[in-house]
Amino acid sequence: MSDTNEKVMANNFIHNFIDEDLENGVYKEVYTRFPPEPNGYLHVGHAKSICLNFGTAIKYGGKCNLRYDDTNPVKEDTEYVDAIEDDIKWLGFQWTEQLWASDYFETMYDAAVELIKKGLAFVDDLSADEIREYRGTLKEPGKESPYRNRSIEENMTLFNEMREGKYADGEKVLRAKIDMASPNINMRDPVIYRIVHASHHNTGDKWCIYPMYDFAHPIEDAIEGISHSLCTMEFEDHRPLYDWVLEKVGFWPNPPRQIEFARLNLTNTVMSKRYLKALVDDGSVVGWDDPRMPTIAGLRRRGYTPEAIRDFCDRVGIAKANSMVDIGLLEYCVRDDLQNKVESRNVIEDPIKVIITNYPENQTEMVTVENNKNVPEMGERQIPFSRELYVDGADFMEVPAKKYFRLFPGNEVRFKGAYFITCNEVVKNDDGSIKELLCTYDPETKSGEGFDGRKVKGTIHFVDAATAVPVTIRNYGYLMIEDENGENVLNPESLVEKQGFAEPSLAEAEPGERFQFFRHGYYYADPKDHKGGVAGGDGPLVFNRIVDLKSGYKPGN
Ligand code: ATP
Ligand code: MG
Repeated sequence: MSDTNEKVMANNFIHNFIDEDLENGVYKEVYTRFPPEPNGYLHVGHAKSICLNFGTAIKYGGKCNLRYDDTNPVKEDTEYVDAIEDDIKWLGFQWTEQLWASDYFETMYDAAVELIKKGLAFVDDLSADEIREYRGTLKEPGKESPYRNRSIEENMTLFNEMREGKYADGEKVLRAKIDMASPNINMRDPVIYRIVHASHHNTGDKWCIYPMYDFAHPIEDAIEGISHSLCTMEFEDHRPLYDWVLEKVGFWPNPPRQIEFARLNLTNTVMSKRYLKALVDDGSVVGWDDPRMPTIAGLRRRGYTPEAIRDFCDRVGIAKANSMVDIGLLEYCVRDDLQNKVESRNVIEDPIKVIITNYPENQTEMVTVENNKNVPEMGERQIPFSRELYVDGADFMEVPAKKYFRLFPGNEVRFKGAYFITCNEVVKNDDGSIKELLCTYDPETKSGEGFDGRKVKGTIHFVDAATAVPVTIRNYGYLMIEDENGENVLNPESLVEKQGFAEPSLAEAEPGERFQFFRHGYYYADPKDHKGGVAGGDGPLVFNRIVDLKSGYKPGN
């Protein structure tokens, strides 16, 4: 169990329930589990569940299992299993045990037999469609299956034959015998076993009957001695069945308690493994770890920190009411985490050449800039300044807008760390585009101190043209945007790649390092593509924008 973050868990209503249970001696220790189905990569919604389950165990000095919910006979993808483990560890958590639900198939079978023997389960020959018709509606009770009153012996024989493979898929099912008139449709004789002739990654062809989730999940929890089974709200109406299964099977004297919480929904984000897999499969993104993906792997490759994601989950909090969280909160959390941690660098994204006409040719001097304006202890560094520089396209306007204080013809600005500079002339190419800006500097103003006390309103950054290093800059937007009907659709401009210039020190950045690019945002040297993904490698310099610098978003309280 990790002790990385005691504060990962602000108190919440689940903890109040747990406190009660501990006080009343219902459970001696808190034991939770995180139960992913290994059919895709984890997303930020899963992060909420991970922080809750592991965070709760840490808070109470308890345990938390990683359990793969592999009761569906699909092919296991070891890629997913490896990714799930990497993601949980990267978030800062360590499971007590790593387990597979499919290891419990024999016990689940015994539990089903126990229900049959108690007259609480029966083999049904109705088709799936008929079962649906018989189920009734919220307003009308269901109808009992004509096979409901088979004898225990007959049910035992048929269920055994189901196991032995005598029947085709869908020909028979095993149903719990509860109450077709229950106001809770989940209690109307739910199916608990179905026939599926398919190989399972773990049990191979040993089984051709597989337990349904509502039957399997409580048993998985009980076998592991889970005390509190935390799940999302859509299972609230399934809780009576969860409790029914464990009570009626009766193998476990102190069954777990299911508690539901609201799932995480984020604006501009689709959180469904199925949907995300489709994006990967159809090439809409470069993979599960595409920096635009809401997967934990994607956020990691984008440059998010585990601290930021844990802080986000903590701020979102745990409640019963479903709500839509503004993705601005996630962005706020990563800015908040990085602002005092990373150094700043001068990078020009849309270069415009500047010639300082009164600066000597073939001269370079070093000027001093701070590494992080919030944290003086992070020190300063020297960057070159000379006659030919680059400034950012956004820092120049030939015809200035109102209240534009940066560079325009006739205006004087401060070049950060260097001199006051005045733009005198715009030189154009034949096609009308800007070739270069002719400027002059005031030698008396080094480090921006106007000797005569005159002030300039704008400060802009620059890089020295002769020593600049070319960088590839990947500016990410939201993968999903709303169309005119309010539907989430893919954003055609979710990636804008630029070729820019950086101060020379950025050539030393290794894959996985983070910086603030002055005025632009927080950036991450791509772990796979920057320098070919190798420290000291000689591939191109490639940076992902983690988040821009906008801080319009203010978290509520
Ligand atoms: P998806 O629908 O995206 O495939 P899932 O719920 O099917 O998600 P599982 O692998 O079954 O994925 O989920 C593992 C755990 O994570 C479950 O306990 C589930 O409740 C939880 N979880 C999944 N999505 C969210 C979410 N958006 N917010 C909170 N918890 C979630
Ligand atoms: Mg699922």
